Amino acid sequence: MPCKRALIALLCLTIIVLITSICQSFHTNFRAVGRNGTLRYEPTELDLGQMRFLAGLSDSENLRRTVQRISIKRVVGTPGHSKVRNYIVDYLKKLDWNVELDLFTQKVPIKSAVTFQNIVARQNPRAQRYLMFGCHYDSKYFKDFDFMAATDSAVPCALLLNMATILRNQFHRSDISLMLVFFDGEEAFGEWSAEDSLYGSRHLAELWEKHGLLDKIDLFVLLDLIGARDVVFKKNIPNTSGWFHRLVQLEKMLFQAGILRLERPLFKFEPSTDVDDDHLPFTRRNVPVIHLISNKYPAVWHLAEDVEKNVDYNTTEQVGLVLRMFVMEYLNSAPNTVYQL
Ligand SMILES: [Zn+2]
Repeated sequence: MPCKRALIALLCLTIIVLITSICQSFHTNFRAVGRNGTLRYEPTELDLGQMRFLAGLSDSENLRRTVQRISIKRVVGTPGHSKVRNYIVDYLKKLDWNVELDLFTQKVPIKSAVTFQNIVARQNPRAQRYLMFGCHYDSKYFKDFDFMAATDSAVPCALLLNMATILRNQFHRSDISLMLVFFDGEEAFGEWSAEDSLYGSRHLAELWEKHGLLDKIDLFVLLDLIGARDVVFKKNIPNTSGWFHRLVQLEKMLFQAGILRLERPLFKFEPSTDVDDDHLPFTRRNVPVIHLISNKYPAVWHLAEDVEKNVDYNTTEQVGLVLRMFVMEYLNSAPNTVYQL
């Protein structure tokens, strides 16, 4: 009998240890950020009142105007390219962001040497850690037609500028801040290849690695191919699925609160394969990434029809709202010091 009791006690103890370790590993996964997973993040969820407040700050007119300003032909080295770059830089400077250009010249197919300019904007340039958002502002060159590249990626860039406008009075200068990166030269000049694509992101990731700046990035959220009515995001990078799940949850909470007009979830916790994009030079260097690219490519992808008037603003607003919640939850929760696990 004592033997049986001891066995039951041992069994109970094993179960308790098992449950505790499962809970802890899930919890730790959710909190660990940064390249080596050694930085700690303290989540504080938004309450319903805060969600309603943030939703009420939407500015659809600003979003539409911004998409219109960026949806022009902007192949690297052309006047349209400079125009869009200047527009983004001026836009963020007016909002009191610190804006820097990462400039470099490189020989590319079709053209001779071209000068690329990544735009790096920091809300608080003295912050120790960053939640980074990115998109590409160049458009692909096509010989036969003018490509305005609204979904690819004027809308993603406009979503980031719109976010900066809407949240301008919500940022508090803490040790964790928001960084927006507008990559140049994402598109290939000829056929897409490892050498002919991702010019800007490859340059920036290498530069930051050299200067030890990659360690300051908690998490990098890359936006691409957004603006079509059938946009949908899936779990395409397994090691950040905890973060992607938070986006899924936030959208669900917005539905439940009756804040979202559409009844269609755009963030789905379903596995899918990832595709090449500006995040690759960063994931290769162990920066945690959420890649928000529509799982179903827009029907207008790389076609003359990818213009502003074909953008669906209902879904685009919905994406913007979920991202805004995510950002505020992250930044509000920012601890004042850098914790090591
Ligand atoms: Zn493209």
